Amino acid sequence: MFDQKAKDSGAHRQQSLMADIIDNALKNKSFYMVYQPQFSVNTGRLIGFEALVRCHSEKFGTISPADFIPYTEASGDIVDIGRWIFKQSLMDLDQFHKQGLSNISMSINLSPAQLAAGDVFETLMMHTLNLGLNPRLIKVELTETALIHNAEMAVRTFAAFRNEGIDIWLDDFGTGFASLNLLREFNIDGLKIDKSFVDGMHLNDNDFTLCSAIIAMAQRLGLEVVAEGVENDLQMQILSQLGCDSVQGFLLGKPERFNACLQRWLKEDSS
Ligand code: C2E
Ligand code: CA
Ligand code: CA
Ligand code: CA
Repeated sequence: MFDQKAKDSGAHRQQSLMADIIDNALKNKSFYMVYQPQFSVNTGRLIGFEALVRCHSEKFGTISPADFIPYTEASGDIVDIGRWIFKQSLMDLDQFHKQGLSNISMSINLSPAQLAAGDVFETLMMHTLNLGLNPRLIKVELTETALIHNAEMAVRTFAAFRNEGIDIWLDDFGTGFASLNLLREFNIDGLKIDKSFVDGMHLNDNDFTLCSAIIAMAQRLGLEVVAEGVENDLQMQILSQLGCDSVQGFLLGKPERFNACLQRWLKEDSS
């Protein structure tokens, strides 16, 4: 009884601490974006970046999105933060293009509450048009949860995206309960194999078989497939043999701020 109470008040304290951190970050505009590179397995070339948000707190340093996104989902703040994320990552995409990384794409994560807010298509398109970006270089990543909780909205939004040539990717593929059903119900362009499968693919038969089956299935369905969380050469070799289209992971590049990305990848691109 006492333990439960202590636990509850611990959770409550943590929640209000996070509330303070987010409030401060919103006031002080201390969210920032980092970009993780994605590479073609065939050519080894940089094909794009995934936009990942970070929160800076004076007191606690960098706060991971895994910690603060769920809180902003519940509070609704993710909707405004998400609008800022669209703007910032598309402005940076435009700058990547202008500074020499032409034709690379930007993958943007969409959470359930953002999709539910109903204006993701309009907001994304507004920035795309303002900046004169090619919509084919923009991809949105959604998880199963986002789709299941907003099925109608998803269908409508996806149709609008498809019309403009913006691709829809299913994120964390394989971790949900209804992954296969989603492929039937929604018009999806690509899958991201979740890191949790990639982690063990070179170590145990089960994970290897699952990755291999996901890639084969994606190929048969005409979907593109990215493996996330690639951390070693062995995983890379196996993914290449299995015909995975592209890869993302610490082996190839960590998420970094715009300037660091530009310096690192411009050099690589021209060498
Ligand atoms: P996700 O979309 O599955 O993003 C991949 C996460 O794996 C990122 O963590 C990335 O830094 C990490 N990662 C990539 N490669 C490796 C690797 O080789 N090893 C390891 N250990 N980790 C790797 P991050 O940036 O902490 O993001 C966590 C989650 O937070 C994301 O998972 C996504 O669900 C959410 N998130 C991040 N940025 C945004 C955003 O801008 N908007 C929304 N709605 N959600 C976001
Ligand atoms: Ca993602
Ligand atoms: Ca993931
Ligand atoms: Ca497509």
